[in-house]
Amino acid sequence: MLAGGRRQDSQGHGALYSAAMKPLFLRGGIVDGRRQDVTIRDGRIHRIAPGLDAGEYEVLDVAGKLVLPGFVESHIHPDKAFIADRTQGLAPGRPTPQTLVAELKKTFTADDIYRRARRVMELAVRHGCTTMRAHVEIDAFVELRGVEALRRLQAELAPVLELRLIAFAQEGIFHDGVTQGLLREALKMGLETLGGCPYMDRDQRAHIDWFFDTAQATGVPLDFHADSSDDPALLTSDYIAEQTIARGMQGRVTLGHLGLLDVLPPEHRARVIAKLREARIHVISLPATELHVKARTDPQRTWRGITRIGELRAAGVNVSVSTNNIVNPFTPYGHPDLLRQALIAAMVGHLGNLDQLAWLPELITTSPARAIGLERYGLAEGCRADLVVLDAATPAQAITEQAEKLFVIKAGRIVARTIRTSDISLA
Ligand SMILES: [Zn+2]
Repeated sequence: MLAGGRRQDSQGHGALYSAAMKPLFLRGGIVDGRRQDVTIRDGRIHRIAPGLDAGEYEVLDVAGKLVLPGFVESHIHPDKAFIADRTQGLAPGRPTPQTLVAELKKTFTADDIYRRARRVMELAVRHGCTTMRAHVEIDAFVELRGVEALRRLQAELAPVLELRLIAFAQEGIFHDGVTQGLLREALKMGLETLGGCPYMDRDQRAHIDWFFDTAQATGVPLDFHADSSDDPALLTSDYIAEQTIARGMQGRVTLGHLGLLDVLPPEHRARVIAKLREARIHVISLPATELHVKARTDPQRTWRGITRIGELRAAGVNVSVSTNNIVNPFTPYGHPDLLRQALIAAMVGHLGNLDQLAWLPELITTSPARAIGLERYGLAEGCRADLVVLDAATPAQAITEQAEKLFVIKAGRIVARTIRTSDISLA
């Protein structure tokens, strides 16, 4: 049925990358809660309706299978993935993950980063991801080697994955004399977003101000790793929201983590959330990393470290869930499968009733698409034909059973397919 080559990863999973083929016709999939056909032309969704004519199309029978927009990874670190076996990991009395990774980073070559990041991206595509916005660390330790590797991947993988890159200051910007210049250079090289990490510098506000100044001077959107601790004295998201409004950058600022919101008194939290909404700030929760890193020394009632996903959404803030780290000291079991992150979010965010399970897929599809400014995305005629077909009939079943991603479609082309056989004998 499909022309193309088969690729295998080390676990023996297969994926089919199709070559030239007729336009696709998805027959009988579950779209917006009912069985409909989807036709695709020129990389875009042409029509969605029941009983369409298959005519000249290549028919894909997905009867009764859930069709979602392709998953959007909005916060991930491919450059420091798959390094857990190079260090001992976290334990009482041992260094922080930041310290462990900073040490390892000095040894990264561009080829090393390229190989590990490519593995992340192939896994992500296999698991339904069609667009990814990735952080690329830029500092005195790794300089621009990550930029070189990720730019290469951006070009090579363009037919299967839209990759956007953030020039990210994981080590802060006031510890050395080179990071600020390297960040500016990375933007000139074509990185699309500027990423700050205020809690890595002593003066968080000075750090935030530098990023706003530079973003305004260069016209790029901002992303911050913010409010990752449980100390209310270190709160920055309210200041970031104020700056966003003052500088007219509403809708162009994204914040990852925000676990600190969880420990604020409810009235204070409500005020901060209202300010985030006013600034149209996009929030990205990173539950797998929070669960591994946070509250490791709490003598009682281990804090989950997760931001208030349901509360933010109910208040009208655009909130997403993303993977963050893959097999490194921050998340040794991290995996770029957003359906897994949706399940983790449901578990730790008290998001398990029928209504919540029905909207959870938004957190890995339309919400992150909005956060990163992806246009013409979704299940509607004229949208880009980036789709994932799941072996489930409903979102609740897909999340609960961690359903197989049967087909991943990028710009109207099948880029991954998973077939698994499972037998049971009840006689
Ligand atoms: Zn991160």
